[in-house]
Amino acid sequence: MNSLCTDEQKKHLLKLTTLVSDKRLSGQEAWSAFSKPEKSKKFKGKRPETERFTFAEAEVRTYKDLRQIVQNKLFERCGGSCSYCRRAVGHYGWAWHIEHVLPKSKYPAKTFLLSNLTVGCVHCNMWKGSRVDKQLRTQKLPIINPVELNFQYSKHLNFVQIGTESLSFAKYLPRTAEGRETYELLSFKELERAHAINGVDGSAAALHERITRGMQIGLGTEEGRQLAALLQRLKTSIYNLP
Ligand SMILES: [Zn+2]
Repeated sequence: MNSLCTDEQKKHLLKLTTLVSDKRLSGQEAWSAFSKPEKSKKFKGKRPETERFTFAEAEVRTYKDLRQIVQNKLFERCGGSCSYCRRAVGHYGWAWHIEHVLPKSKYPAKTFLLSNLTVGCVHCNMWKGSRVDKQLRTQKLPIINPVELNFQYSKHLNFVQIGTESLSFAKYLPRTAEGRETYELLSFKELERAHAINGVDGSAAALHERITRGMQIGLGTEEGRQLAALLQRLKTSIYNLP
């Protein structure tokens, strides 16, 4: 992110990266200090006691500004679509997160590297977190890596979308092992099903929309993630109804 910073902002960012390299903050904690900045934040991590960290007003402002700059940059770089499922995100599409390709929990030094960040929709972000990031042992992802050098989505997956006024159809066709793993681990089958149902049934689409909104609340906390996983199962069971 340094390349996007003024000299003053670089210093403020350095404070966070130093707290991470000194192991005083974990990757997740430093990211939380950056993405939801406050003058004073308490972190527990693996410490026996919570520890309080203070940030100057200028630092809080830098983190807010920088987050917006990073968000705009990624949105532009990804053409307004999720890097994994390629569905539109943002104002006219689904909600999205700044997604750490190599998880900040395992690779804290990569927390603030622009080259490790991309756009991930709520669906992909959640499944990647639980089915990919937690199991990851090396830097080689089992699924597609949208930030690797010379990455080409169509080499791994074809995303076909056909729609008329009343019918809509979406299908993912994996072409490589990473593409297949992406399809399986990120539950693309569910996206295909959701797409078909939403196209023909307005009330199912509205329900789907409400559940998805519910899933976005509090994804930053463990309880929030558990709630999202529960709602996800509910959503899947709705799509599986005959
Ligand atoms: Zn996605």
